Amino acid sequence: MAHVAVVTFPFSSHAAVLLSFARALAAAAPAATFSFLSTAASIAHLRKAEAALPGNMRFVEVTDGAPPVDAPVPRQMEVFMEAAEAGGVEEGLEAARVAAGGARVRCVVGDAFLWMAAEASAKVVAKWVPVWTGASNALVAHLGTDAVREDVGDKAASRADELLTSHPGLESYRIRDLPDGVVSGDFNYVINLLLHRMAQRLPHAAAAVALNTFPGLDPPTVTAALNAVLPNCLPLGPYHLLAPATDTTAPADDEPNGCLAWLDRRAPRTVAYVSFGTVASPRPDELRELAAGLEASGAPFLWSLREESWPLLPPGFLDRTKHAGLVVPWAPQVGVLRHASVGAFVTHAGWASVMEGVSSGVPMACRPFFGDQQMNARSVSHVWGFGTAFDGTMTRDGVARAVASLVGGEEGSRMRARAQELQAKVAKAFEPGGECRKNFDKFVEIVCAP
Ligand code: UDP
Repeated sequence: MAHVAVVTFPFSSHAAVLLSFARALAAAAPAATFSFLSTAASIAHLRKAEAALPGNMRFVEVTDGAPPVDAPVPRQMEVFMEAAEAGGVEEGLEAARVAAGGARVRCVVGDAFLWMAAEASAKVVAKWVPVWTGASNALVAHLGTDAVREDVGDKAASRADELLTSHPGLESYRIRDLPDGVVSGDFNYVINLLLHRMAQRLPHAAAAVALNTFPGLDPPTVTAALNAVLPNCLPLGPYHLLAPATDTTAPADDEPNGCLAWLDRRAPRTVAYVSFGTVASPRPDELRELAAGLEASGAPFLWSLREESWPLLPPGFLDRTKHAGLVVPWAPQVGVLRHASVGAFVTHAGWASVMEGVSSGVPMACRPFFGDQQMNARSVSHVWGFGTAFDGTMTRDGVARAVASLVGGEEGSRMRARAQELQAKVAKAFEPGGECRKNFDKFVEIVCAP
C-alpha cells in the first residue's frame, strides 16, 4: 500500500490549496493512504472551513516552532520555516509513519515552498514531488534569480522599465514586474529566502513538478524555460478544478452570506466582484477610493472585505449602496466567479484568483500588492489580454472607469472574449482524456509508483 505524505506551507491560502489537491489525489488513488501534514492552527482552521476528510486521508500535526504569542505573521512564518529546517518535516514524516500503523512514507508531495522536504524525503528514501501553486512565469523568475541578479545588479530602480529580453521566458516582463525578492526588496525576508532555496533544489531533487497552469496559457518560451531545467513538469491546473465536484460547490442556501442567492437576482454579466484574497488589504484612503469608485460606476457589486475593514468605508456607504451592493466578510469565490451575473473581477491578482477568474471567463481589473501579484497583473493585461491593471493605487475615477469598461464597454467585451477563449481551453483540458486529466494521471502514477 502506498503511503503518501502531503506537506504544506500553513499560511495564507496555501494549506487550503494543498488540501484540495490532496483530496483529488486521494480520490484518484483510493488504495493509497494519505497523511496531510500541517500545524495545529492550520489543521484547526481547515477542519472548520472544509468538509470531512476522505477515508484514506488523515491529518498529522507538525511543529509550528512555538512562535511567541501574538507574533506577527512574517515572524510566525520564520519560526515555522526554521523549525521545519531543523527537523520539523522529518519528525512529521515519522509521526505520519506511526499514525499509519508503521507504513513507511514512500512519497512526499509538498508545497514547493517547503524546500527542506527535499532533504527530509531523501533521508527516509522517499520521492519528493513538489506542487507549485503560483504562475509558471513566476517560477521561471525564481529559478533564474541568480542570473537575473547578476544582470540587473543594483540597478533595479533605474532600469525598472526595461524588458528582460535576454532571460528566456521573461521576455514580456519589465524589471519592475519581477516578484519581490528577485532583484528588489529584502532578500532575507522569509518568503524571499525560501523561494531562493526552493529554486536551488527543484531542478535536482524533484521527481516531478505539478504546475498550476493548463496547456495553451503559458507562452512557449515559458514552457521551454521550465522544461529545460525541471524534471517532469506537469501542467495540471487550475488546481481547484481537480477536486471532486462535491467539495467545491456548496448549494446556495448552505452559504451563510447569501452571495449566490443575491447574484441570482442580478442581470447576466452586470456585477463587479471585488476581492483581494486572504492577505492583501488596501490602505484606508485607497479603500475609500475603491468604495467611491464602485458607487460611481453604477454597477452592482459584491465585495468580499474582511470585517475589520468595514469601519474604514466612507460614512453612509453601506446604507447608500444597500440596493446595488453586497459587502460580505467572505464569499464562495469559485461559485461567485462561475455565476452568470458576474461581469468583472477586481482582484489583487493572486494566482489562485487569476486562475479561478479565467477558468470562468471573467475579465479582471488587477490591483497587485506584493509577491508575484505584479507579475500576474502584467500577464493578465499585457500577455493574455483578458484584463487591465491599475497603474499604482486605485482611485475613484480609475475604479469607476475600469468597472464600467469591463461590464459594458467595447474593450471589456474584447477582454471577456479573450477570457472565454481561455475558459474553453481549460474546459477542454479537463474533459476526460484532456491534457490536464492526463497530466494528473501521470502525477498520480509517479506519486504512487513503488
Ligand atoms: N477566497 C474565497 N473567498 C473570499 C476571498 C478569497 O474563496 O472571499 C479564496 C479564493 O477563491 C482563492 C484564495 O482565497 O482560492 C485566494 O488565493 P490567491 O492565490 O488568489 O491569493 P492569496 O490569498 O494567496 O493572496
